[in-house]
Amino acid sequence: MEMMIIIDINVLEPKLMTALFFLAGLLTGSFLNVVVYRLPRGETVVWGRSYCPACRRSLAWYDLIPILSYLFLRGRCRYCRLPISPRYPIVELVTGVVFTTLFYNFGLSWILAKYLFLSAVLVAASFIDLEHYLIPDSLVVTGACGGILLSLLARDVGFWAALGGIAAAAGFLLLVAVISNGGMGGGDVKLAGMVGLYLGLPLAAVALFLSLITGGLAGVCLLVSGRKKRQDPLPFAPYIAAGGLLALLFGKEILHWYLLKFM
Ligand SMILES: [Zn+2]
Repeated sequence: MEMMIIIDINVLEPKLMTALFFLAGLLTGSFLNVVVYRLPRGETVVWGRSYCPACRRSLAWYDLIPILSYLFLRGRCRYCRLPISPRYPIVELVTGVVFTTLFYNFGLSWILAKYLFLSAVLVAASFIDLEHYLIPDSLVVTGACGGILLSLLARDVGFWAALGGIAAAAGFLLLVAVISNGGMGGGDVKLAGMVGLYLGLPLAAVALFLSLITGGLAGVCLLVSGRKKRQDPLPFAPYIAAGGLLALLFGKEILHWYLLKFM
């Protein structure tokens, strides 16, 4: 009997933890939606009740349950019946999936806390950039301060590695910005530097490489499908985010493969 109970707990606990991290991701995503909406409009993200952007009615707690409220209301405001942006459930779901993946990868640790914070900042930056074609400085500064503090606690990246990561990521994108003559913005350069701080060298270089590949592929797809024209700006924050997260999850394997193959 005792054996049975022990096995049950061991099986249950990872599942319970996974569910908890998914839930924490959904709730964080719900907060990030507030950040994405308010930060570019110069509104405070800390105070004030959530309201419908169309009719400005304050929303009740049951209007704010991640994913479920959107599904239950069939994507429309309860009061004015105008459509709610699908960005709301998408941000919640993306954050939930990213949090769960990071928990699987790092387990309970300060390293996990560090990269959960990074991922939250990257999700907010990506969706603000997609809508407004800008990355608020306040977001990058918040991310950088959190990065310094959490790096001291996580101790996974040393001082010089972090400094090298900032210089490599921001420096290379600055070069791209100068060459492309405004195709890459200052916000992208700063955000890449922030990712470099978290990842340090050599992972920051892998992250940058993956950002350019994913961004380039997406750019070609958007051009070929006719959804963008050549002169249209391409928000780059989503690709910095994708590159950073992919490098976190697969960077060591990619580096290992690259060194074996080409060195
Ligand atoms: Zn409304």
